[in-house]
Amino acid sequence: MIPQAFDYEQPESVADAIAMPGKHRGEARVLAGGHSLVPLMKLRLAAPDALIDIGGIASLRGITDTPDAITIGALTTHAQVASSEVIAAGCPILAETAAGIGDIQVRNRGTIGGSIANADPHGDLPAVFLALEGEATAEGPNGERTIAAADLFVDYLQTSLSQDEIVTSVRVPKAARSAYVKFNRRAQDWAIVGAAVVVDGSSARIALTGVASRPVRATAAEAAFTGSNAAEAAGHAADGLDPPSDTAASGEYRAHLARVLVRRALEAAMAR
Ligand code: FAD
Repeated sequence: MIPQAFDYEQPESVADAIAMPGKHRGEARVLAGGHSLVPLMKLRLAAPDALIDIGGIASLRGITDTPDAITIGALTTHAQVASSEVIAAGCPILAETAAGIGDIQVRNRGTIGGSIANADPHGDLPAVFLALEGEATAEGPNGERTIAAADLFVDYLQTSLSQDEIVTSVRVPKAARSAYVKFNRRAQDWAIVGAAVVVDGSSARIALTGVASRPVRATAAEAAFTGSNAAEAAGHAADGLDPPSDTAASGEYRAHLARVLVRRALEAAMAR
């Protein structure tokens, strides 16, 4: 299908991009890699009056290494995250997850900021970001603010960002003992369920893809984990959850996948 007609803007700075929605009547949406927004527009499930294409803003790209954390510009692509030696060494879960997103075209266009801002509960990076307890930095007309991952994802494709805020970067703490495991029916398909795990001494942070309308922490499995009991803790991965049923999988099967994948992810992270 053909999208509804829209205005198109190419700001050269974040300040210009923030000012642009006010010039347009109706809804203006930020365009990054376009690999989630454009398909929605072609189906007319999204029909913005204007697109603010931030792809030319150089300051939104890049990876910065600090002793405890890595800061990644919002426009950094999945391919750049996947091939970064800094990320592979300091936060392997992020590099490996990015390497497993879609196919090479998707990874060359899709961005980390777009994935986080899109908040697709079947997307891989939101759950990983949640397990890492990362932070997004956003700029808007009222200035800059930092949003913890736990406060960002609100509901299906909905975040706590306001319409006129732009994610400029994401920051993740270093987490060497971390792993993401997903299950899909065919290579390159979206995950039916995914499990992101960060092990820190005798505790673990565990987040799930595909079991709710937003990525969620598997709090019962986290509480049950003692540092060495992966299988026992994973048995609680779906406690308190009511995963949805759809054409890809029943809720019951998603709960089963959550238990299996959390065990595998815990074992992989603990082996690091
Ligand atoms: P866009 O499509 O440009 O934007 C998405 C949304 O985020 C829009 O609402 C936009 O306004 C908003 N936005 C974008 N950037 C910002 C910003 N900096 N600040 C504020 N708002 C912003 N994802 C997976 O996780 N796993 C997969 O296996 C997977 N497979 C895919 C397969 C295909 C064939 C396709 C087309 C996509 C797939 N994706 C997958 C999604 C892909 O990762 C997208 O690139 C990503 O979800 C969105 O990033 P984007 O840069 O393309 O964002």
